Order: sequence, then structure tokens, then C-alpha cells
Amino acid sequence: MSRVLLVQPAFPIPSKSHHHKDYLPVGLLKLATWRRKQGDDVALSLGSLRTDFAPDEIYVTSLFTYWSTYVRDAVSFYRRTFPAARIIVGGVYASLQPDHCLNFTGCDEVYQGVHAEAELCNPDYSLVDTDFQIVHASRGCVRRCKFCGTYEIVPDFIPKSSVRDEILKNHLVFYDNNLLANPYLSDVLREISEFRVNGRVVTCESQSGLDGRLLLKRPHMARELKAARFRNPRIAWDGRFSQQESIKAQLTILSEAGFSPKDTQVFILYNHDLAPAELMAKVEQCFKWGIQVADCRFRPLGLFHDGYRPYKKSQVDDEYYVHPGWTDREVRLLRRTVRSNNICVRYGIPRDRYVQELECLSHKERASLAERLGYEGDRLTDAQLAEINRTWLASRREPEPQPTTKG
Ligand code: SF4
Repeated sequence: MSRVLLVQPAFPIPSKSHHHKDYLPVGLLKLATWRRKQGDDVALSLGSLRTDFAPDEIYVTSLFTYWSTYVRDAVSFYRRTFPAARIIVGGVYASLQPDHCLNFTGCDEVYQGVHAEAELCNPDYSLVDTDFQIVHASRGCVRRCKFCGTYEIVPDFIPKSSVRDEILKNHLVFYDNNLLANPYLSDVLREISEFRVNGRVVTCESQSGLDGRLLLKRPHMARELKAARFRNPRIAWDGRFSQQESIKAQLTILSEAGFSPKDTQVFILYNHDLAPAELMAKVEQCFKWGIQVADCRFRPLGLFHDGYRPYKKSQVDDEYYVHPGWTDREVRLLRRTVRSNNICVRYGIPRDRYVQELECLSHKERASLAERLGYEGDRLTDAQLAEINRTWLASRREPEPQPTTKG
């Protein structure tokens, strides 16, 4: 029997990030099941470093190449703490940049690609405390976008015709790279729509954007997604502004299937080949449609560090990757525009009334303010929304109470 420690380095996953809030190192959880089946003793280190379990083998996962320093720091710590243990690094960075990973982190071995035997196991959710689970209904992608490393990690597209035997929880997060490309997706969605866990229905969502070009070919998938209680669809719009008619048609398919525009987003890649003016036009078009934008700043697959600081007013170009057709100022302007547009779309306020503090107003707080002001029902009028926003801003600007001294 071996003692196996599974390690997720202390990645700087933003606590408020909508797109990362459902991140779990699912590969490590599958490895846990696989090793336990062989009679091994397994422990998990999730972000924090642990010294209470002396392992024979350590598996460290990796994510984006530009988070390589977090992987190196974890390997260095465990090397110092358990010098006799064999350290293996796998995951995205390890698969895309194996030589760099071996030399830079100082690990003993790099594992490239998906672990074939662990992949056949269900993740061991006893190691984590979550009310959702990760599911892959496929591996790989049918496309070869030049900015994406998926095909280097999983060269073939491998769809599943069923996930029924994997469903354990009431909320599923698909980690598929291209969910809609699965030719069996209708079957998978039908089984989710009919499945019950503890007598309750199952809901689902996708970590990646949806390939809307496939929705145009098979529009019935939108209704099937809705029937499977799919939440917050995001359409990917990586191409030119001239594709706007096609994107509009994809959004219409979603809205006709019952997805509210306020819960739908368009994914855009910026700081890449399209010029800043074209990206701004895409963002403006989404605003006109009343759709929020999920923006993704491009970083090359061979980048090993990202020093971008969103809250700084400016940075010099070599602190983070700025595409030759972009400037730091344009990167920040696009981000600011996306943020303010999203707030205006989310809360139904005119753009000239946007103020940054409204970004802190959560749905829960807004509902609570609506209740306090005596507004009922899901659909608030413009005047009611304006009143809620005014009340929120006034509460944010109230002076801090001063400490008093009572003798
Ligand atoms: S469609 Fe998505 S997953 Fe597939 S290659 Fe393009 S970016 Fe990558």
C-alpha cells in the first residue's frame, strides 16, 4: 500500500469570480478513486499546504501556463517537506509545456494528457465539501481554434452517450470543451431532465461557452438544454463583428427556448487579433441586445507569468502580455466598458446613471431592498429599480459610525 497525496497548488482563484466559483480539481478526485481501488491511502491538499500526511507519492495538478509559479511553489514546498516522496505534475500546464514544467518546477515526472485509467473512475467527492459535481459528457473538441490548446491535450473528440451512472448530486457543472458538439447530447440532456437525486430534480450549467454555430444547425438543443434545467448559457463570439447577425440568431434561439436575456451572456476574447475598435463594437452590440458580456483576456499558451493588476490605473507593457495590436490603455478601457455595461444590463439602468458602487449590489441584496421598499413580484419597473439603486448608493455613502468612549 502506498500513501498518495493529491495537491492543488494555491492558485489565485478570485473568490468573487462567477466563472471559477465551480472549480474543482476533478482530475485529482478521479485519481483518488483509482488509487483507493488499488488499496492505497489517499489525502487531498486543496490550496493550503499540509504536513500532517507523510506521502510516498505526490500528484500535483496544474492549470493555466501563466500560473506555473504556483505549481513550482507547491512542488518546492513538498520537496523540502517530504524529500523521499516522488512528485508527479499533471494537468493543463504540464500537458502543454512538459519540458518547461519538468525544469521549472523540479518535479520528478510530468504526466501529459488525460490519465486513461483514472478517467474511467467517478471523482471521490468524499474529499471535498460541495453541493455540485463536475461532469464530462465529452473530451476534446471538434474544432482547432488557433488560440486554444485543447487539441494538444486531447487530440481526439470523445463523446459519451450517457452520464446517468455518474450523477450523484443535484447540480452538475459540465467541464466539456464543446458541449454542443456531442452527437448524443439529446440523450444526455433527456436523462438529466428525468433524473432525481434524493427525490429532487437535477440542474446543470457549463463552465465553457457554448458553440452557438452548432445551435444554428440543431436549434432543438436549446429546448433540450432548458428541459434539463440548464442555467446561464454563454455563447462564444470569438470572430469578427460582421458575425453579428449569426450571433443574434443564436441568442434568439436561446430566448425562444425560454432563456431570459438577463441570464444569458456572450463570451468574447480580447487582447488578441481583432483590433480594439472592433471589440468595442461587439461589446456595444451586446449592450444594444441587452446581453451581458463575459470577457476573456488572451494570454499566449507559452506565457509563464501574468502580472496584470485589474485595479491599477495603468501598467507598463512588459508587466503582462499585451497583444501587439493593443495597448494597456485599450485593455483597461474594454474591461471598464464591459463592467459598466453589464451592471446597466443587469439592473436595467441607463448607461449615463452607471456608478461603480453598483457593482457591489448582489441579487440577494437587491431582492432584500425591494422587499424593504414594499415592491413585490419578479418584474420591477424602471422607477422601482431606480429607487432601489438610489437607496443602495445612499446606504453605501453613509459615514462610518465613529467610536464613542463611555466612561
Ligand atoms: S471551440 Fe473552444 S474548445 Fe474548441 S478549439 Fe475552439 S476555443 Fe478550443
